[in-house]
Amino acid sequence: MAIATINPATGETVKEFPAQSAEDVERGIAEAQAAFETLHGTTFAQRAEWMRTAADLVEADADELARIMTLEMGKPLAQAKAEALKCAKNMRFYADHAEGFLADEPLADPSAVGASHAYAVYQPIGVVLAVMPWNYPMWQVIRFAAPALMAGNTGVLKHASNVPQTALYLDTVFERAGFPVGSFRTLLIGSKEVEAVIRDPRIQAVTLTGSEPAGRSVAAIAGSEVKHSVMELGGSDPFIVMPSADLEAAATVAVKARNQNNGQSCIAAKRFLVHADVYDAFAQLFAEKTRALKVGDPFDETVDVGPVATSSGRDDLVELVDDAVAKGATVLAGGKAVDGPGWFYEPTVLTDLTDDMRIVMEETFGPVASLYRFATRDEAVRIANQTTFGLSSAVWTTDADDEAYFIRELQAGAVFINGMTVSYPELPFGGIKNSGFGRELAKEGIREFMNVKTVWKG
Ligand code: NAP
Repeated sequence: MAIATINPATGETVKEFPAQSAEDVERGIAEAQAAFETLHGTTFAQRAEWMRTAADLVEADADELARIMTLEMGKPLAQAKAEALKCAKNMRFYADHAEGFLADEPLADPSAVGASHAYAVYQPIGVVLAVMPWNYPMWQVIRFAAPALMAGNTGVLKHASNVPQTALYLDTVFERAGFPVGSFRTLLIGSKEVEAVIRDPRIQAVTLTGSEPAGRSVAAIAGSEVKHSVMELGGSDPFIVMPSADLEAAATVAVKARNQNNGQSCIAAKRFLVHADVYDAFAQLFAEKTRALKVGDPFDETVDVGPVATSSGRDDLVELVDDAVAKGATVLAGGKAVDGPGWFYEPTVLTDLTDDMRIVMEETFGPVASLYRFATRDEAVRIANQTTFGLSSAVWTTDADDEAYFIRELQAGAVFINGMTVSYPELPFGGIKNSGFGRELAKEGIREFMNVKTVWKG
């Protein structure tokens, strides 16, 4: 895959970037290792000062960053700017809280282990490789980089090949803010070069956000090197609507949850499970609101849904929807690619789905929603849990018993009640089953790449 900015709204190649040589990669890793030697000895206060300066830079650059993200992967401009600002917020969050999250943890009764003092300290481990996707090209990287650098680790980034300009911005922003040179290095390489980087003895761990096949490959290589890894992979999140729900609000949020970021979010609600008592009313509202979305140039501020980021991504949607329709699915909205330049796909709602359709088990990475009818909450859980993924979920109900039941039974890394899944710096984020392992964000995220060192004193 060429490393290039290709405008998905037109299909035009804007700029190509040569892949870095083996010598360039060696220099990048060496710089990150040298930066670690300095960074791990600095204070939290010093790192927090640099991190806040980096947040200031991202805020100051937000308009330009938004333009680059929209150009490279097609998300609506306002959503791109919001992403840049959310990154700055996350950077400040870790500047404020890293020291508390990583404070020493003393044993209340050290005499129980025959010690005068016993405690755990959290210490950074070194250079961590981050392999990242294009769908939130700033956010996915910052949600790793901000806690990593605040903890005293350094990072090297292999970003998705279609967002090189965003990747190059991230290469310099931390050192512009004062961090030691090399604290965060972008390697402009293809996915085939990742294995050698993981196997490099200076790389201590790897985090990957992306598809399940990429995760399987990277986790296997990391495992063979006995290196810790965090995997943030795909999802096919259920959005469950019970009879007690506010249907109008649920339908409005459902449309946003499915179509924001042009439908290309790991935590997008992808399967909509609706109780039979309210199914017809919800389906009508959902289809109407989906049809009302404006599709077009993501730089046009009135547009809701831009193009799919890659031509192959749009081809995947065409195949999944055509397969379902050929096997008897009903199209309530959309249902086909948009003619003309660029990789647009109509916001789509499908129903009458059966288990022989690929769409039932596979992730739809674009503006395509699947609608299911259920009769009992047990049936809803069965459908919700039948995929191999387990990233997040949403439930709309005002019944306390139903709420407790779904929180207990849904196989997912999160449950959002009467809302849509959103990632917050304050809350842990990650999946189970084939959606991956490990957590990002909050206290859990910053503790992933640490040596929890036990100290015992007689
Ligand atoms: P992708 O094709 O897996 O690519 C992600 C990154 O992995 C890119 O940098 C890619 O490089 C690299 N890569 C791909 N195959 C690789 C391999 N065999 N070895 C090493 N690196 C490899 O995923 P995507 O299409 O960019 O992103 C969409 C997927 O990411 C969806 O499944 C989505 O659900 C998931 N996702 C998950 C989360 C989460 O937090 N759980 C968040 C966002 C997205 P190239 O670009 O050079 O191929």
